[in-house]
Amino acid sequence: MSEQRMILGKSEKDWHRQVPIIEEMQALREVCWINPRLVPVAQAAAASPLTMADIQEAADRLARFAPYLMEAFPQTAATGGILESPLKEIVGMKAELERDNGCTIPGRLWLKMDSHLGISGSIKARGGIYEVLKTAEDIALRHGLLKPGDDYRVFGGDNFRQLFSRYEIAVGSTGNLGLSIGIMSAALGFRVTVHMSADARQWKKDLLRQKGVQVVEYAADYSVAIAQGRQQAMENPMCIFVDDENSQTLFLGYAAAALRLKEQLRKAQIAVDEGHPLFVYLPCGVGGGPGGVAFGLKMVFGDHVHAFFAEPTHAGCMLLGMATGLHQEVSVQDFGVDNVTVADGLAVGRPSGFVGRLMEPYLSGCYTLSDERMFRMLARLVDTEGIRLEPSALAGMWGPVLAAKDPDFAAYIRRQGLQETMPRAAHIVWATGGSMVPAQELESYYRKGLSLL
Ligand SMILES: *Cc1c(COP(=O)(O)O)cnc(C)c1O
Repeated sequence: MSEQRMILGKSEKDWHRQVPIIEEMQALREVCWINPRLVPVAQAAAASPLTMADIQEAADRLARFAPYLMEAFPQTAATGGILESPLKEIVGMKAELERDNGCTIPGRLWLKMDSHLGISGSIKARGGIYEVLKTAEDIALRHGLLKPGDDYRVFGGDNFRQLFSRYEIAVGSTGNLGLSIGIMSAALGFRVTVHMSADARQWKKDLLRQKGVQVVEYAADYSVAIAQGRQQAMENPMCIFVDDENSQTLFLGYAAAALRLKEQLRKAQIAVDEGHPLFVYLPCGVGGGPGGVAFGLKMVFGDHVHAFFAEPTHAGCMLLGMATGLHQEVSVQDFGVDNVTVADGLAVGRPSGFVGRLMEPYLSGCYTLSDERMFRMLARLVDTEGIRLEPSALAGMWGPVLAAKDPDFAAYIRRQGLQETMPRAAHIVWATGGSMVPAQELESYYRKGLSLL
């Protein structure tokens, strides 16, 4: 590449000098970036546009809808219409990670299985479903069909379906957000269009079409799909666009996870305090899912939680946005990185500026890992725990290994004064998707992983 090449107003050489990690990312090396702008929560929160009260409001809204969800999706009856996923200690996988990588992971390792969330089988069941429910509530209140205090089972009534059928919901997606929005919107009676990027798996498109969702396919990546969705919505006043790049509503739906996790940790007797740090590793695409969860956890546990985002080497958009400070103004493609990855949920080349800026003072760091590594860990997880995930959902699994042996992580742990408490740390790997993937596809992921071991 020529030194003269200009990228966003600077020569490539200047970029390499000012933000050295860019050169490694261009070479598709796995990298680790510690956030120099992290500050104590008390200081960060003063400048945040969202608060704990907003998260509580989201949790309350989900609770109001629980009786309706129980009826519309009988499989959620066992949990009273509340969508929540198991938190499972993965002792066998921890031992395998230690063997494979010649390290000792300090503390205990847990898997947060959003892969097995109800209705749509991915982390998107948090934000996506929440945003559709809030949209439905707003419309029903505006039309006088709903009064505060009503039993939300009324949302299953014909009068509601008729009202919602006049509206259209549109969304751009790499797949899983489309599933969540599509399934929930269709159940309420909305007309739905999902604009799918080229990365979206065929079975996701098929499943949505079966549910009566209109699927528009693009040969281009996620940014194009989302732009087309936004355009369509602008042309139709009855069309509501779910904006994965900018939606505070989606973000709060994800953030509500923190209040639930607090309960789960209490029940499992896992302390998070001065003597017990909590490390969380979250697969990151555009940023809303991991950002919302991490923000919620910072609100709940303050400085005792340490949140890291995980991205594919071919799609390290949030890392790039954060490290350059350019956020949504920069894409991996600007630097010649192709955004081609098997981790379809993470195949995003341009990060959300809303999430990037909001998370700047809260995030501990970002790292990237190769697709091959995701596949290898995918196979290991099947063999040790019998848990099958989609490749994206393994991105977080590399974090505990980095915490054990990466020099940048070690420096972070020292600066945070955690050397003494690390042996009592809890590591939570956020497993973001997998249970809806057809068995045959899961089997081929597993075989691919085995072939790379
Ligand atoms: C969408 C998705 C993510 C990341 O969420 P973003 O909000 O795009 O950052 C992670 N894993 C899976 C499986 C996903 O579908």
